[in-house]
Amino acid sequence: MIYHQVSELIGHTPLFEIKTKVPKGSKIFAKLEMFNPGGSIKDRLGKYLIEQAWQHQQINSTSTIIEPTAGNTGIGLALAALEANLKTILVVPEKFSQEKQVLMQALGAKLIHTPSEAGITGAIQKAKELNKQISNSYLPLQFENPGNPAAYYESIAPEILKEFQANQLTLDGFVAGVGSGGTFVGMARYFKEKAPQIKTAIVEPAGSILNGGPQHAHRTEGIGVEFIPPFLNRKDVDQIFTISDQAAFTWVKQLAKTNGLLIGSSSGAALEASLKLADQLPAGSNIVTVFPDSSERYLSQQIYA
Ligand code: PMP
Repeated sequence: MIYHQVSELIGHTPLFEIKTKVPKGSKIFAKLEMFNPGGSIKDRLGKYLIEQAWQHQQINSTSTIIEPTAGNTGIGLALAALEANLKTILVVPEKFSQEKQVLMQALGAKLIHTPSEAGITGAIQKAKELNKQISNSYLPLQFENPGNPAAYYESIAPEILKEFQANQLTLDGFVAGVGSGGTFVGMARYFKEKAPQIKTAIVEPAGSILNGGPQHAHRTEGIGVEFIPPFLNRKDVDQIFTISDQAAFTWVKQLAKTNGLLIGSSSGAALEASLKLADQLPAGSNIVTVFPDSSERYLSQQIYA
């Protein structure tokens, strides 16, 4: 197969059985989203949001895309915008990974920084202001756009179910992190419809508010919320696991050594939560989780130190 557009390389990522001791002889499978061309699960979202905006005539060939982002969505949007010849302005809180910011710029995006203390909420506010000021600009706004969960409902969830069916595996458990909530909500909805026996679990870092804990800074990047995502519906969620930075980063180091997998910290947290879910489910369950990106975009944060 010869490919002609980078967008053709998005999706159909490998499903990998993690080699580690899982409680009750259960199995954990991870969808390796770092295999997308922009290096993360958010390539699926960038492509979907730009396609939707074209279809609904929200953008034309002279539009500018503006988005607040922790980084991976910015890379996904910059990739999709580049193919459509559109300008991109990304609003990023300063604290987020330098590697991601360099990659966004490499793909032609203009970056605007907001103070770290203002969090993602500060970036959202700034992006809304820019959207008002810049004519013919379009703000997809992943945090509110129903296209965000739809992107995952339509792509990664059906891929996984097909892969499970082809291997005659039942799908008993599902774990994903929540940042904007798009990945978890889209996938949980699809699985609850097609495999209603499934138990779904959110993973968040300590410092995120979903389990009612106090809000504070955390090192685990890409997941954790400062407000409840509007599309999060409690009926899609059976369980919420709050994972310490230490547990997430321990798995980052351990999976490199034992499985040869170079994962980001949100993947480490997802694995820790999958093991906790395995403990609660019947023996011999099959759990699927998502590894959103790779450790390479966090090397300057001493991810393996
Ligand atoms: N992990 C990483 C590394 C991410 O960048 C993101 C997106 N912020 C997520 C997990 C969570 O994805 P979502 O926004 O769909 O909840």
